Amino acid sequence: MSVPARLDELYAIGGGTRAGYSPEEDEAHELAAGWMRDAGLEVERDVPGNLFGKRGVARIWSGSHLDTVPDGGRFDGALGVVAAIEAAARLRDLPLAVVAFRAEETGPMGSRRLAELPEAFIEVHIEQGPVLEDAGEPLGIVSSVIGQARGSKTFEGRAAHAGTTPMEARSDALVEAARFVLHVRESAQGGAVATVGAVEVEPGAANVIPGRATASLDLRAPTTESLDALIEAIGFDLAWRQDPVAMSGPPREALRAVLPDAPELVSGAGHDAMVLAAAGVPTAMLFVRSLNGGASHCPDELSSAEDIELAVDALTKTLARLSASDQAGV
Ligand SMILES: [Zn+2]
Repeated sequence: MSVPARLDELYAIGGGTRAGYSPEEDEAHELAAGWMRDAGLEVERDVPGNLFGKRGVARIWSGSHLDTVPDGGRFDGALGVVAAIEAAARLRDLPLAVVAFRAEETGPMGSRRLAELPEAFIEVHIEQGPVLEDAGEPLGIVSSVIGQARGSKTFEGRAAHAGTTPMEARSDALVEAARFVLHVRESAQGGAVATVGAVEVEPGAANVIPGRATASLDLRAPTTESLDALIEAIGFDLAWRQDPVAMSGPPREALRAVLPDAPELVSGAGHDAMVLAAAGVPTAMLFVRSLNGGASHCPDELSSAEDIELAVDALTKTLARLSASDQAGV
């Protein structure tokens, strides 16, 4: 069965809604397990429920996830698993493992709880953005996964009557928060992005001057230095941060050798590959062009059959190359 036909079969489970650890995700794992056996792989599951199709001493892994966001698309995650199964079927003698991680969209939960780590990991994933489509390129090599910070900023004012309090006598917390939102927007430069996606206003009534406003912050930047600078420039209560993670080592070198002309790009979204790379596994990521302006996490998500075949071919060659250098002890 072709890769697009398998993506259709997975999409039919739950109609694009397969939450982590739901019966729909279980069913997708069952379906993929059958395809793994057909590809000559031995099926195993670990304690967190990650699914493996292994052949021989599997030091090199490839895969992604089979869960989705609510009403998601047919390519996010699923493509990386199906492409890896297809590559494994084409490389009948190669020791490797295909993996479907659990609950990427709500964690990632599965890839964070691995009992063992591979020596190399490569993930095929759709770009989920418009960069490759705008550049007219079918495939891109991920250089790093963007760093992230989350937090909030609270503004204290004085709640008072909206009718009887003169303008000059007011201390309006939401007006301060509004100035802050513009400051956040102006602070994000040089490939960094920053978003206030939610503002909580108290007491939150039409006829009361806001006494307190809390703005949420989501910051992303391509380097540790630029993330530090952005946090500093905005000024807020930091709840958590994750430094950018570089794709590196033999997997990235092998991918580059297979695709010498492919452009490099920074991933603005987190992935299982980010978790493995952060845990010290040499990791590569191959992005496939997203059509429809990069639409993702929705039913409009689209990649062409031609681009998918190019990605499967590149993954197959990269795995073969990696395995050859692994056996040579390089
Ligand atoms: Zn994904």
